[in-house]
Formats: sequence, C-alpha cells, structure tokens
Amino acid sequence: MTLITGKQLIAGNAVAAGTNRFAATNPATGESLPCEFFEATLEEVGQCLEQADAAFYALQTASIEQIAGLLESIASGLETLSDELLDRTHAETALPIARLQGERARTTGQTRKFADLVRDGSWRQARIDQGDAAREPMPKPDVRTLLAAVGPVVVFGASNFPYAISVAGTDTISALAARCPVVVKAHPGHPGTCELIAQVISAALAEHNLPAGAFSMVQSAGHEVGLALVEHTLTAAVAFTGSLRGGRSLADAVAARAEPIPIYAEMGSTNPVFLLPDAMATRSKQIAEGYLQSVNMGVGQFCTSPGMVFGIEGEQLQSFLSTAGEKSAVTPPATMLHPGIHAAYVKGVERVASSIRVEPLNSIQQPAEGCQAACAIFTAPVTAIASTPGLTDEVFGPVSVVYRCQSSDDMLQYARGMEGSLTATIHGTEQDLQEHAELVQVLQRKVGRLVFNGFPTGIEVCAAMHHGGPYPASTHSGYTSIGQASIFRFAKPSCFQDFPNPALPPELQDANPTGIARLVDGRLTTDSLA
Ligand code: NAP
Repeated sequence: MTLITGKQLIAGNAVAAGTNRFAATNPATGESLPCEFFEATLEEVGQCLEQADAAFYALQTASIEQIAGLLESIASGLETLSDELLDRTHAETALPIARLQGERARTTGQTRKFADLVRDGSWRQARIDQGDAAREPMPKPDVRTLLAAVGPVVVFGASNFPYAISVAGTDTISALAARCPVVVKAHPGHPGTCELIAQVISAALAEHNLPAGAFSMVQSAGHEVGLALVEHTLTAAVAFTGSLRGGRSLADAVAARAEPIPIYAEMGSTNPVFLLPDAMATRSKQIAEGYLQSVNMGVGQFCTSPGMVFGIEGEQLQSFLSTAGEKSAVTPPATMLHPGIHAAYVKGVERVASSIRVEPLNSIQQPAEGCQAACAIFTAPVTAIASTPGLTDEVFGPVSVVYRCQSSDDMLQYARGMEGSLTATIHGTEQDLQEHAELVQVLQRKVGRLVFNGFPTGIEVCAAMHHGGPYPASTHSGYTSIGQASIFRFAKPSCFQDFPNPALPPELQDANPTGIARLVDGRLTTDSLA
C-alpha cells in the first residue's frame, strides 16, 4: 500500500521544508479529504531544477532499453496501484470510477506507445549529407543532424484529466521519452492522485538505474510556485494544459525571462460546429442527439466540448432546436471537478443567460448544493455575437449556444473572424463540402483539427493526431500535446559537421547501430553507409 505523505517528491525523496498547507476537497460532499499537502518553498523549486539539470547528461547516455523500460514500468506501476489510485482520484475529482478506469487505460496505452517510439527511433529524424572532399570549387563538409533533448521541462497538468494530462500524462511521458528531466507542478484539484503517480515514476527511474533527479514534483495551491518554476534559469521548456488565463499568465512570465524559452500551453477552446443544409435535410434530429451527448460528456469538462453551433434558419434547424431542448431538459445535473470550476460555470451560464437576444432552450435550474451543474443550451441570432462582447468566450462545462444564421454566408463570415480553436466540426454531405469549400478552407486556417460528421470530444491517441491550434487554443500552433508527435516539443536539432564517426551519437554513425530510418543524401533508408 502506497502512502500519501503530502510532501514534495524531489529526486525520489519526500521532503517538506515549508509550513503552509492545503487540503484536497471532495467536490461531491464539500468535505476536506485526508492528508494535508505542504506548499513547496522557492528553495525546493530550485532544488528540483538543480537535480533535473544534474540528471540531464546521464539521461543522454542511457541505453534505448533503459528509457523504453522506464516508460513501460511507469505504465505497469499505474496498473499496480489499482483501487487505491482510483478511489483517491474519485474522491478528489468526482469523476466516475468507470471513466477513471478508461482514462487510466488510455494513459498506460499512450505511455507504452512512447516506449515503442523510443525503440523505433524515428523521432530522432536523423539526416545525413555525406561530405565530398573532391567537390569543386569547395570541398563539401559532412553534415549530420538528429533531434535531441532540450533540457529540464516543467509540466503543469489539467484538472479534467487526472491521469492522461497530469503527472504521468503525455507531457511528462513525451519529455522523458525525449530524455528530458521533468519537474511537475501538481494540480491542487487532485494532489493525492498526483503524489501516488509521482511515486510510481520515481520507483521506475530507480528500477532502470536512471538518475532520481530526472523527475520531481512539487505541490502548491497558489501561483507563486508555478511562476518560480517557469522563471528558473535552468528550465528549458514548459508544457501547460489548462485555462486561457493560467496559460497566458505563464506565457507572459516566460516571455519576460532574460532568456526566453518555449512554452507549449494548450488552453480553452469553443470548438464550433457547422450544420450544412444537405445533412440537416435528412438527419437534423440525429445530429441534435449526438450534439447533446457531446456537450454533456464528462459534465462538459473537456477542452474539445462543442460550445457553439451554427445552423441556417428554417424547419430543419427548428427540429434540431426542439430535440436539443427536449434532451437538455431531461439531462440530470452532475458533479463538476472542483468548487472553482463549478463557480466559474455558474457565473458563465448567468452571463450568457443575461445577454440580450439569447434565449434558453430548456428551463435551467442550477442545483443549490454541492458542485452540481445542470446542462444549459441557448439559442441566439448570429448577429448577437457582434453586439455582445464576450458572448463567444469559453464557459467550461455543459453549456452551448446554437446560433441561427440567415444563410451559409453568415457562417462563412463568422468563421473568417473567429479566433483560433482546437477543433471545428462540419455536419454535411460530400455535396455540402463541395458547395462550402471556402468555409472548409477558412476553418482549416483557424483550427487544429477538422471533424466531419462526428463530434470533437473523445480524442484518438495516435501518431497522426493533432491537438493544438492557433492562439488562444494554444501558444504554439505548430505542435500537438496529444499523440506521439508531442515529443517534438522537447527535442531540438543537434548538427555535427565533419565529426569523426566514433564521436557521433549512435543514430548518426555510419554503421547505423540502432537501425533507425535516416534521410541519407536525400533518400530515406535504414541501411548503413558504405
Ligand atoms: P487551470 O486553472 O488553468 O490550472 C492548470 C494548472 O495551472 C494548475 O496547476 C494551476 O494551479 C496552474 N495555474 C493556473 N493559473 C496560473 C497562474 N496564473 N500562474 C501559475 N499557475 C497557474 O485549468 P484547469 O482548471 O485545470 O482546467 C480547466 C481549463 O483547462 C478549461 O478552460 C479547459 O478548456 C482547459 N483545458 C484545455 C485542454 C487542452 O488540451 N487545450 C485540456 C484540458 C483542459 P492553480 O490551480 O493553483 O491555479
């Protein structure tokens, strides 16, 4: 049985030099949960990064099997924790046990995919242009490049994915796969869960004879610790998943550093859905049912929740609205992740409800007790957006607005002016897509992922997934935070010119001892060099 100590886990040691403490709250009952957590001190933040920096070179010289084995041990360690982990997370987040089991399976699955990626080595993107001493008028140098670890990475997890986007989520795992030491700022919404998982990672490092300093985790319910982590001179990159406010303030702190570093912040999104005429002519009711399911999935606590819908006025849209109204009226309220998110939801719904020209589709009664949220669906003419500043801002929870357009030109006009989003969804036929090719083109520019005849919630974890988007969906639209490609956030090119063969990293040596695919003189091959 693993014990929650409430302390920081710095290079494998549970320590607590500070005196300030906080407790986790059960959002369903409002009660404080057992064990208080020590706020990390600024000295402890410094220790984490010094240990991380000291561990860096040992991680670079570890074998491929050590790194892949580390990730596999983390995955099996999460499985071994079993009910103890699930019960604590359920108490801290109110997420149902079945959902947590599913999320843990996703987390162990994605972790093992990174172990495969470490073994196949393709993430190194090795490129070799062989030299030619006889070239005229100048000899051609031998140039070889591969991707390598950037340095210590600071990770901030989100409250809504306590496994898949938290201490052992994609950010930590992809950074370790790239051989970067990691320091995690635990989420105060699920601090006990964070500690249990941190212990698994530390044990896995020891099992594979890797330096303990390659992983540390600090607790804090305030912002000082997070800011100190991103401002520390030894931090080389930051990964954040959470709110726009949090991501933006950390990005501003990073930009103000003497030495700027990359920050990959994945933030909120409104994920617009566009209903095109041909699809609506045959299945408006069915689309409305799918939409309601997507809005309510996980009590709407997904960054990919469809927060807005655009349809063209007429009989089909009326049928869509009546189905959505009926379904939302019978959706029972459910408990949100923590009091802060719940309070923001209630305030956000009140703001939308009090906007002129916005009408509710169901009678929305927010339960008076606990962190329970009722589903809230509204409708408004699309012109209300221009006349109501802030109407389209994300409200995190089971809320969505259906905007009524006069024609598809209104949709196109909105899409042209909209801010960046993680996703956009189109319901249509192939004929619709041809007739609305410009809308598709505009959306392609504005979002990271385009969904056709589906819903944006429920992200597939795979090599081709892109989870990111133009600001404010993320601070760097070129990178994903989900799927194997997320490793590229923590790798930088290292180029070697005219280096003797034995002094090169194995991936770039003539004999290709790791057997990876390399671009040699413009041709992709696993062959060794003659
Ligand atoms: P959050 O409140 O922003 O918290 C995320 C983490 O950042 C926490 O550890 C938090 O610590 C810290 N933090 C927040 N503001 C900070 C600041 N100003 N300075 C330093 N640290 C700060 O987000 P959340 O409540 O976990 O999640 C809800 C939001 O996340 C929603 O808006 C949702 O759309 C978004 N989200 C996005 C994605 C995505 O992939 N894009 C995925 C999931 C969720 P404290 O709690 O101590 O402030």
